[in-house]
Amino acid sequence: MANERTLSILKPDATARNITGKINTKFEAAGLRIVAQRRVHLARSEAEQFYAIHKGKAFFNDLCAFMSSAPVVVQVLEGANAIAKNREVMGATDPKQAAPGTIRAEFGLSIDQNTVHGSDSATTAAQEIAFFFRETEILS
Ligand code: ADP
Ligand code: MG
Repeated sequence: MANERTLSILKPDATARNITGKINTKFEAAGLRIVAQRRVHLARSEAEQFYAIHKGKAFFNDLCAFMSSAPVVVQVLEGANAIAKNREVMGATDPKQAAPGTIRAEFGLSIDQNTVHGSDSATTAAQEIAFFFRETEILS
């Protein structure tokens, strides 16, 4: 399995409920290492740029409003097969569909407030990591 890096975001519902440590524990238990991490309050324009791939979809406006409503934690996770492993630990987009034990099943409030974001491919991981971090800020 390849050693990979992926971009993770702990969404505003996670910072609001003060559960970022509980979520990070899930990543570390799954063998994912947090090699960069920062708390930021995204501007609406930054959320729109980050989620540009979803522009035009019915949920785009609500998604960008939510993601810029309160602080988030942006982080780079590293490990064997990190992109797929993180998606597995996150669970399905809709917390109601997420497998037991996953972050979204345990902590997700709704399909909007689903607690975490994770890159979905090697291409988006590279783009999303570069959106938030310089290479020198990522320390394995
Ligand atoms: P994921 O975050 O699992 O990769 P997507 O990339 O499809 O999911 O969507 C990005 C985010 O947009 C989701 O995490 C969720 O917060 C929101 N979203 C997706 N689909 C819907 C929907 N049908 N209704 C409301 N929000 C949605
Ligand atoms: Mg996605």
